[in-house]
Amino acid sequence: MPTIHDLRQTYSNMADEELRQIAVFETTELSDDATQVLREEMGRRGLLDGFNAAISAQRHTYTPDQVKELIRRVRQLPCPMCGIRGQTIHGRRIITRRGFLWLHRKQEVFRIGCKSCIRKAGLRANTISMAWGLFGFPFGLILGFGTVLDNLRAVDCKETAQTTKAFEDYVRQNTGVITLLLQSEHKTQSLVNELN
Ligand SMILES: [Zn+2]
Repeated sequence: MPTIHDLRQTYSNMADEELRQIAVFETTELSDDATQVLREEMGRRGLLDGFNAAISAQRHTYTPDQVKELIRRVRQLPCPMCGIRGQTIHGRRIITRRGFLWLHRKQEVFRIGCKSCIRKAGLRANTISMAWGLFGFPFGLILGFGTVLDNLRAVDCKETAQTTKAFEDYVRQNTGVITLLLQSEHKTQSLVNELN
C-alpha cells in the first residue's frame, strides 16, 4: 500500500497529460488517498478546472435516469468534432479492422458528434477496413465486409432517434469524459477525440 508520500512523489513525476488522462478515465480505480493526492497535484499545476467535476463524477454511481439526463444534455452540445451548433449529437461505436493474411486487429472507438461527423468517421473506418480486408483474403475480406455493414448501420443517425444502448453504456462507463465535455462546452471541439 503506497503511503501519501509515495503517491505525492509518483504524481509529481507525471506529465500534465498523464494526470489529465487519469483524472478523466481512471479515477474509479484509485483509492481515496490517491484521488486526494491527484487533486492536490493537479490543483498545484492549475489543471483542476473542469477536471475536478470529472473526478467526482467517476466516484458517483449514476442511476439509469441520471445516465439518460447526461445523454439529454450531451445531445444539446455543439458537435465535439466540428463545433457546429443546433444539431442533435449522437454517439456511435465505430469499428475498424486491419489485417494481413490470418492476422487481424479490431479497433473500436466510440464517437460523439453530429450526424455528418459520425457518418464521415464511419466511412473513413470502412475505407480502411475494406482496403485491409483485401489483403486478408478470404477471412479478412469477410470480416471486413461485416464490419462495413455494422458501421453503415451505426452511422445511420435519425434526428428523432432515441439514444442507443451503446450510447448509454458509453456514458455510464465514461462519466469522467462526459462530465468534462459538459463542463467545458466552450472548448468541446476535438476534446473527445483528444482524450479517446
Ligand atoms: Zn460535427
